[in-house]
Amino acid sequence: MNFPSKHTATGTTIFTVMSALATQHNAINLSQGFPDFHIDEALSKALGDAARNGFNQYAPMPGLPALRQQIAASFKRRYNVDVDADNEVTITPGATYAIYTAFTAILQPGNEAIVLEPAYDSYIPNIEMNGAKAVTVALPAPDFNVDWNKVKDAVTEKTRAIIINTPHNPTGAIWGKSDWDELANIVRDTNIVILSDEVYEQLVFDGERHYSVLEHPELRQRSFALYSFGKVYNCTGWKMGYCIAPPEFTQAFRRIHQFVGFTVNTPAQHALAHILANDTAMPVHTLMQQKRDHFLSLIKETPFTIHKPAKGSYFQLASYERISDMPDMEFAQWLTKEHGVATIPVSAFYKNKQDDKLIRFCFSKKEETLNAAVERLKKLSEL
Ligand code: PMP
Ligand code: GLN
Repeated sequence: MNFPSKHTATGTTIFTVMSALATQHNAINLSQGFPDFHIDEALSKALGDAARNGFNQYAPMPGLPALRQQIAASFKRRYNVDVDADNEVTITPGATYAIYTAFTAILQPGNEAIVLEPAYDSYIPNIEMNGAKAVTVALPAPDFNVDWNKVKDAVTEKTRAIIINTPHNPTGAIWGKSDWDELANIVRDTNIVILSDEVYEQLVFDGERHYSVLEHPELRQRSFALYSFGKVYNCTGWKMGYCIAPPEFTQAFRRIHQFVGFTVNTPAQHALAHILANDTAMPVHTLMQQKRDHFLSLIKETPFTIHKPAKGSYFQLASYERISDMPDMEFAQWLTKEHGVATIPVSAFYKNKQDDKLIRFCFSKKEETLNAAVERLKKLSEL
């Protein structure tokens, strides 16, 4: 039998490849983005309580009303934006699914969608699976700020979508308010839909803040905003997320969702609704900034170069220019096998596998994990 691919990505996703290599070589895994510490006890208890209390059957297709209401209340509290829980919020099995569903709701064969690279690795395959073409625009190193003239040049009459991501994986860059205005200038008077991947919205450091597309009244009317509970409550394996979009967009989204996932894990929805209503844990950005700062202070003792500290997300880019001139994929494999630390080669975030000799570290780890990893990295010598 023959299974023609619906997308052009070859092989297995880099996160699976590097985590498997880490396990195989007993390496410390700073590759795939997931915390290695426990979730809040109150959240585990809420999940157990929900299962014990009998919330084990299908939830409503758009998601549990109590959870959607808590999400709306949280956006009112944190961003002072009004979100209609019934008509604008849909609970999804993670943000990856929400991104795929949003693309599927709007793309037709022959459309184009603009992707700013480096980019999270599901975007381009998702676009291609819908018969559309991904048009890439490079984010220039070392700041990875958007070059708005390049985005403007990439727009054609076939452009149907632009996907953006702030705080940004893998670079840790964040958008300023003016970036949203630049984007609005480009899409005004077009049919372009924005997919705003804001999964790291609560992971912004140094007193800076996240600007959400939902705060931009003009853009909000043409946007799907996508979120993940995994990054907020350190439970990436729960695969829980949601989409906020205007009512007509939400209808189109649910037209797909009802026949793909239909509904999402009921006890987890109850647990998250409970936690959102009674949230007392340390804000996740405080915890994650401590981890970033700790990692940055340690990495100084190694031959890696940090061009720019991450302003948000789970991730820090580092250059190995002083250690090796291997291609980044080879370097990441060598580092895992020979030095016992797994990372992600940044070329994996480019369609053409552009190699700038950068690797991505995930610092969302216990302090002792970061310490042990850096002890190993200190043994690397300069060229
Ligand atoms: N977008 C970005 C930028 C991510 O880093 C991730 C990583 N998890 C996702 C989306 C997907 O989130 P989820 O695990 O909820 O599917
Ligand atoms: N978002 C995480 C990362 O960038 C992992 C998600 C995944 O494994 N697909 O590492």
